[in-house]
Amino acid sequence: MYLSVCDKSSTLSVILMIKNAITIFKLLIPAILVIVSAYDLFHTVIDLRNKVYPKIIKRMIALVCIFFVPTILSLFLDLLGTSDIFSSSCWTNANPTTIAVLKNQEQVEADAEEAAKKKENKKAAEERKKREEAREKIRKQNEKKAEEAKKKKEEEERKRRQQQGNNGGVTVDDPTFLHESGTDGQVDVINGIFYKPAGNRAGTAGTKGSAPYGYNKFFYNRLKAFTDAAKAAGHTVNMGTTEDVAWRPIERQQYFYNCYINQNCNNGNLAAVPGTGNHGWGLASDLNFGNYNDILWAHDNCSRFGLRFSVCNNIRSGDCTENWHIEPTTIKTK
Ligand SMILES: [Zn+2]
Repeated sequence: MYLSVCDKSSTLSVILMIKNAITIFKLLIPAILVIVSAYDLFHTVIDLRNKVYPKIIKRMIALVCIFFVPTILSLFLDLLGTSDIFSSSCWTNANPTTIAVLKNQEQVEADAEEAAKKKENKKAAEERKKREEAREKIRKQNEKKAEEAKKKKEEEERKRRQQQGNNGGVTVDDPTFLHESGTDGQVDVINGIFYKPAGNRAGTAGTKGSAPYGYNKFFYNRLKAFTDAAKAAGHTVNMGTTEDVAWRPIERQQYFYNCYINQNCNNGNLAAVPGTGNHGWGLASDLNFGNYNDILWAHDNCSRFGLRFSVCNNIRSGDCTENWHIEPTTIKTK
């Protein structure tokens, strides 16, 4: 509520003080003038030569002036165009009763304002609480979503690991697996295809691969993944680890070849002409198995690892010369 300056108890209190001061002034000055004039008169009686009358007359004029100070001031202000403050609400209201009433009224208004402020604060607090609750709700929803996404991701990861376990720690879907390129010893591998040197030099000096048992390292990686996967699937499938069944020197190949030709040793098993077999380049392995189920698993799964049983057409039909001899899927001569 708008209050003019003169409707405020504080302003009116100040004006009241001025009013009181003027009243005291109006009483005190004449009293002093009268006392001073009486003193002068007394001296006049003692010394008649002292011309004091004009002085007294001046004081009397001053006395009259002081009585009319407010009126004169008011007239002066009127001339200046200012309102008559001595008849204004400011002046008339500047009395203890009105001030008390105003103070009371102001107190009531202040209390009302305080109450309104409290109400407003309460409302703001309620709105703030609502906003916070809404935020909290959204936060919880997001948390829940994140939790669900995390669980889903973990489940996918678990499945992926399981699949990887089945494949011996190698993801066969990995586009680089079975598409390797590089060189090991005298064998080149380009996009997963093995290129061996021409000529009958297999098993001679310098033909060993750099992997364990003299295997070509790219072939060994496939074998390792394959045998690990067999193990993870509960099968016993082991790669060859001796000269007879892994990288084979040409002298040993000559022995097996003689056995094959003469049919008098090594069960008369098929053997490549010395210097031509893939064992001599570290590109063949003779596996050993636990039982027939292991053999079936190996034949069913070898292709996923870039391997094939090159002297076995069909394990189930029995059209199979060696169910243990395994090589990379594709070997070419450079
Ligand atoms: Zn073999």
